[in-house]
Amino acid sequence: MPIAGPFADPAGMQEAHPAATKKVFVKTYGCQMNVYDSQRMADALAADGYGPTETIEDADLVLLNTCHIREKAAEKVYSELGRIRQLKEERARQGLETVVGVAGCVAQAEGREILRRAPVVDLVIGPQTYHRLPQVVGRARGGEKIVETEYALEDKFEHLPQPRRQEVRKRGVTAFLTVQEGCDKFCTFCVVPYTRGAEVSRPVAQIVAEAERLAEGGVREVTLLGQNVNAWHGDGGDGREWGLGELLFRLAEIPGLDRLRYTTSHPRDMDDALIAAHRDLDKLMPYLHLPVQSGSDRILKAMNRKHTHDDYLRLIERIRTARPDIAMSGDFIVGFPGETDADFEETMRIVREVGYAQAFSFKYSPRPGTPGADMVDHVEEAVKDERLQKLQALLGEQQRAFTQSLVGRTMDLLLEKPGRHPGQLVGRSPWLQPVIVDESAGEIGDIITVRISSAGTNSLFAGSTDSPSRAVEAKRAPAQEEAQMGVSV
Ligand code: SAM
Ligand code: SF4
Repeated sequence: MPIAGPFADPAGMQEAHPAATKKVFVKTYGCQMNVYDSQRMADALAADGYGPTETIEDADLVLLNTCHIREKAAEKVYSELGRIRQLKEERARQGLETVVGVAGCVAQAEGREILRRAPVVDLVIGPQTYHRLPQVVGRARGGEKIVETEYALEDKFEHLPQPRRQEVRKRGVTAFLTVQEGCDKFCTFCVVPYTRGAEVSRPVAQIVAEAERLAEGGVREVTLLGQNVNAWHGDGGDGREWGLGELLFRLAEIPGLDRLRYTTSHPRDMDDALIAAHRDLDKLMPYLHLPVQSGSDRILKAMNRKHTHDDYLRLIERIRTARPDIAMSGDFIVGFPGETDADFEETMRIVREVGYAQAFSFKYSPRPGTPGADMVDHVEEAVKDERLQKLQALLGEQQRAFTQSLVGRTMDLLLEKPGRHPGQLVGRSPWLQPVIVDESAGEIGDIITVRISSAGTNSLFAGSTDSPSRAVEAKRAPAQEEAQMGVSV
């Protein structure tokens, strides 16, 4: 997985981390922001002598970076902690110490309750205090049980150390970069405003420096992250307040960065400058994740989404006028309290009207502390199941149609990693599909031009058209090869 980077390194000091004497295993649940956060936590611990391990049995420190967005996601953490308890006991028999930590949104939402339910846990740390992690781990090693979930007054990004350049390289040619955190929208189903706090934008200079550092480390594609990424705003240094559109134009000037993406956006925050960026900026990939959640105005109102069915359609029309080849993606919730068959049909209608290239759909999961959880007219589980199945069948059909429509087309591909089978490489299309090519097509980090020869369920297969000598025949791979797309932030 790719990783994010730093924002200032005048003396190149971060290359001089102590040799790793201890090992940390980080397991990440949930969204892309958690992937980014896990990497930043690993960077903070590297400065303290912890090296990463992929083997949990070898770890002196086990960190679970958790997700609280739906009940199932949160419960997974407790079953994992049961397994970790046995592991810790086994290591103790061998005279080895293991510190166990819970980070992320479950940590923030449940705090001390985690220590009560799972005494194996030594430390609980919320997303706003990751820069304090080394100090918290040190105290936990001294035998203290720690809950660190107060929102920090200082800017954690200013205090989080940078990854070593070699670490950036190891993490690949694509990277995430958090530009915005938290949310002030308070959709009635969502825990994010409670777990991630108020909406905060990182300053332009910090973001640009981090992106430059990534580019120096060989990263060619950056995905800007935020729970509400298009609400990002900041002082542009030119006397104007910038929005995400202006920031994208600035990042596009960085040599070596050839592809830009961002996720997840709220329909209310798609302003003219951002739409113009989709029209004018070649480096901005033609893919937009813009969750609508429901097609019913009544349910959208109950969800406090602040947009209607028609607002959303009009917005998509403006975006498609600016960038006709843009692929739309979205999130949907079925079975929100009070949702009738007629409301659900409105969701099916909006899906047909928009035509999605990809989408994520979920059954409503009541989250403690959110207004939705206290609503009275909850929908039966069986009804939610049935609606989800219908919706996913339609979305699946649209996704397959979109993927199929790319067969025969010529496109640029960023080669990202080796394929599952020897002799293959996997690249990413501008519209996010994994494309499998023969390894003779180029090297990881190259952007090559290919012609798509066939399509699987989620992947495409291609031969390079860069030069006749490099032209390769697409090789079919089994369905398991088809990589999963990212989950929205
Ligand atoms: N900020 C984005 C937006 O406004 O569309 C969404 C971010 S949210 C972290 C990711 C997705 O999880 C949401 O778009 C929604 O579809 C889903 N989600 C959030 N809360 C949920 C809940 N209580 N039950 C089911 N799905 C939920
Ligand atoms: Fe904020 Fe998105 Fe959650 Fe709504 S769904 S509260 S906009 S993070």
